[in-house]
Amino acid sequence: MNVLEYEAKQLLQSFHIPIPHGVVLHPGDNAPTAPIVLKSQVHTGGRGKAGGVIVIQHGDTTSPMHDIFALAIAGERPSCILAEEVIPIATEFYLSLVINRSEATIDLVASTHGGMSVEAQDIRNLFRHAIEPTTVDAVSDLLADYLAIPDKSFVLQDMVANLLACFIKNDATLLEINPLIITPPGELIAGDCKMTLDDDARFRHPEWHFERPPASTTFVTLDRNGTVATIANGAGLAMATVDAVRAAHLIPANFLDIGGNATVDGIVRCFRSIVAFPRVTAIVINIFGGIVRCDDVAKAIIQARDQFPQLPSVYIRLSGSYSQEATRLLTQRHLTLYPDIQSCLREINHES
Ligand code: GDP
Ligand code: MN
Repeated sequence: MNVLEYEAKQLLQSFHIPIPHGVVLHPGDNAPTAPIVLKSQVHTGGRGKAGGVIVIQHGDTTSPMHDIFALAIAGERPSCILAEEVIPIATEFYLSLVINRSEATIDLVASTHGGMSVEAQDIRNLFRHAIEPTTVDAVSDLLADYLAIPDKSFVLQDMVANLLACFIKNDATLLEINPLIITPPGELIAGDCKMTLDDDARFRHPEWHFERPPASTTFVTLDRNGTVATIANGAGLAMATVDAVRAAHLIPANFLDIGGNATVDGIVRCFRSIVAFPRVTAIVINIFGGIVRCDDVAKAIIQARDQFPQLPSVYIRLSGSYSQEATRLLTQRHLTLYPDIQSCLREINHES
């Protein structure tokens, strides 16, 4: 899971890594006063090149703020903006910790050419050393030489030790500071931070409450006059569901994969699209809860029934994560759960 820059910087700050002062802005908040840097908070990199990072030295910041909120980067629009003090830059370095799977080590990687041009650099010129808590001082000294800042070797030792602790304690698989800014008076500050955390370690991090990226829902209309709408999660299950509807001699109206990050609101919006089909008399819901929680799907079904009085009958089959809670919620509302998709389709054929 990728976390947003401001979330990653909060983690850095809790490990005493210097970051710029900043505030998080939401739509409707007052525009900050210049000088300021406005940074789109989306779950991907390359924001600078996409126009998602604006340095405003003076003047009104209202319209740049609106521009960033309106700009989708890799399909994602930011729900917030990080507004930071403008840091004067003498040099931009690249510094990261990555997992080296073939050697089973954590590697410290650095480049003297940080910032937005880092990809253009020849990888043979990169600094790359395996690192562990006992070798932090020695590796940091090599790093100081590589970056040609030997006078900063003690500062780097502290920073690298803290970064490594932050990486390990948070079960990160990537921690990237680009740019690592060196200011004219010689201070080192993390100008940007990208962090990827290991989803499989979630069970030992009750403190993880990060903003989720938007769900990647795929809705495809198959037949405007179809009679059975489908809702499933995962492209494979969604295709299998459409095939099963056809095999039962019914006409599928749509293909819908609600995606892995589906929220209750997002699923309710899918029902809204389905209500628009004129001939649909049944909705088949086929969920295998993995990342998607069955109880979220159940809540969405209940909300959709309350919200859309004309909602066609639902035929639900679900299993997997939180299915017991889902079953409880749905049976309280007198909704029938079917053991498999064939039973759903038999029932639809039986009733029509
Ligand atoms: P990314 O493109 O998603 O990696 O976004 P960054 O946060 O790295 O910002 C891109 C570039 O904007 C940086 O490499 C800097 O050159 C510039 N930038 C970001 N913050 C500041 C700042 O505080 N001062 C100055 N002068 N430039 C900044
Ligand atoms: Mn960056």
